[in-house]
Amino acid sequence: MTDTFIPVNEPLFAGNEKAYLAECIDSGWISSEGPFVARFEQSFAAACGRRHGIAVTNGTTALEAAVVALGIGAGDEVILPTLTIVSCVGAVVRAGAVPVVVDCRPDTWCMDVAAIEARITPRTKAIMAVHLYGLAVDMDPLLEIAARHGLMVIEDAAEAIGLAYRGRPCGSFGTLSTVSFYPNKHVTTGEGGMILTDDDALAERCRSLRNLCFQPQQRFLHEELGWNLRMSSLQAAVGLAQLERLAETSARKRAIGLRYTERLAGLPGLKLPPTATADAENCYWVYAVELDDSVPFDAKEASRRLGERKVASRPFFWCLHEQPVLKRMGLFADDRHPVAERGARRGLLLPSGVALTDSQIDAVAERLRAVLAG
Ligand SMILES: *Cc1c(COP(=O)(O)O)cnc(C)c1O
Repeated sequence: MTDTFIPVNEPLFAGNEKAYLAECIDSGWISSEGPFVARFEQSFAAACGRRHGIAVTNGTTALEAAVVALGIGAGDEVILPTLTIVSCVGAVVRAGAVPVVVDCRPDTWCMDVAAIEARITPRTKAIMAVHLYGLAVDMDPLLEIAARHGLMVIEDAAEAIGLAYRGRPCGSFGTLSTVSFYPNKHVTTGEGGMILTDDDALAERCRSLRNLCFQPQQRFLHEELGWNLRMSSLQAAVGLAQLERLAETSARKRAIGLRYTERLAGLPGLKLPPTATADAENCYWVYAVELDDSVPFDAKEASRRLGERKVASRPFFWCLHEQPVLKRMGLFADDRHPVAERGARRGLLLPSGVALTDSQIDAVAERLRAVLAG
């Protein structure tokens, strides 16, 4: 047992995945025209309390289409956290807009909402809120700031599927919200994503952008360039089966997180994630720990040492304001965001997939204890 390899994530297919896939194959309906796409969109949107779901190829393209659908482009600014996946900033930059980043909070690693207002200018068009590592952005103050300044909100809920903030589902807060269905997310389609909204016109615009901006009146006459971001019915079939078991998945992910906390409590050198904030539980998308100053090495080295003990792990995201590709564009020249910079260097994500067993959790805790003992 002590030398079995423990992967960072393993998905679980315990519901109707095979049956629904067989339906696709037996019926021949496998493309985006197949019936599972609309079923999955409607069910997932309903689970998030939204009128519309637009299924797309992945969470990255969901963000790219969302930014363009909102009419954000050259000369516009979008405020987002510096500690996040590159997909967020890619969507802004590719639309020709300017990303403006804020630091994160030391307790949740989510964007520091109190830092937003100082970065608003006459060019600011939107705030991109990203729930991180299973903890929720403080949405009510963020929405209040957005409303007061007339800004749109893009909510990236990829890491918060099934999570409620003050009793309302994550994915329900943005002018447009997005999720990803990558295999490490709470609902997976292998690759996939969705845009969520209550706005009929925006939903129509997202559908058009997803489908090459074909026009209903004259299909091959184009007023605009779109993309092919269509999800296949095969993927949606898996997604629907996954969604049917979201409650079980959420409960198991939560149990994994709580067991880690129990096993790692009191271990010197380690800051554990909170089990909840005042407004939301931790849905433990991943189990995120931070090495404190008493540990003489950083997260990269901790990850290497865990790897020697056959435990896979990941560092935190690298800060956007420290990304070479963005620096070379002349972005973020004077930015310093110490909380995020520290998290990027000292933060570590432990194996957290829904298929993780209790004995694997115990083994990870044991091997991490050995790593920290030096
Ligand atoms: C996973 C993830 C994405 C990207 O999703 P893909 O489907 O991998 O493109 C975007 N934002 C966040 C916060 C994510 O965790």
